[in-house]
Amino acid sequence: MSQPFHQVPPAARVPGPGECRYCGSGPALKLNMYGHVGLVIAFRTLTAAGPFCRDCGIAVFRQMSGKMLYQGWWGPLSLVICPIMLIVNLVSRLRLGGLRAPSPVPGVAAQLPAPMDAGKPLYRRPVIAGLIIPVVAFAAIGVAIASAPAKDCYRELPDGNGELVECSQPHDGRVLGTAEDTADCPAGSTGYLKRDYSGYYCLAEN
Ligand SMILES: [Zn+2]
Repeated sequence: MSQPFHQVPPAARVPGPGECRYCGSGPALKLNMYGHVGLVIAFRTLTAAGPFCRDCGIAVFRQMSGKMLYQGWWGPLSLVICPIMLIVNLVSRLRLGGLRAPSPVPGVAAQLPAPMDAGKPLYRRPVIAGLIIPVVAFAAIGVAIASAPAKDCYRELPDGNGELVECSQPHDGRVLGTAEDTADCPAGSTGYLKRDYSGYYCLAEN
């Protein structure tokens, strides 16, 4: 008498290429989503690696980009890095949007039993208000530059050189203008001071 034949199902495997790392569904794209936290003098960058199915990818995009909208701007370097990462995420988001709806792949077991709930779009979440932060920051930098006092006077240093100072400070003379060559200084110039990169400041004593 023969033994009854039982077909043993193959052991479930982990998601592979083209399958979502999170829910195991396909199709999925291999790409990274980024997060960035500005910490004034330092920063932290977070990476979530795919492959992502459409729904998990969009959910991670919204979560990481949403946090970045209010955590990402706090530092001089972060003001530059954060928008770049937001754009990289947005490009990935557009690519994910082109995928068809995820469907489970038989025999694949992943961390999540189903694709993530993508939730509300970013522009309908309160975090979108974070976009005002870089606008205010760049406006403040602009105002600081525009209102920096001009250094239109000079002061002689003990070593015989000079330095530019604000005219409200003690000084020995005024800057009449700049010239590429000392011979081109305006009439009335009684001295000159080399500029950092090229040319000269034309000076007149008080
Ligand atoms: Zn997924």
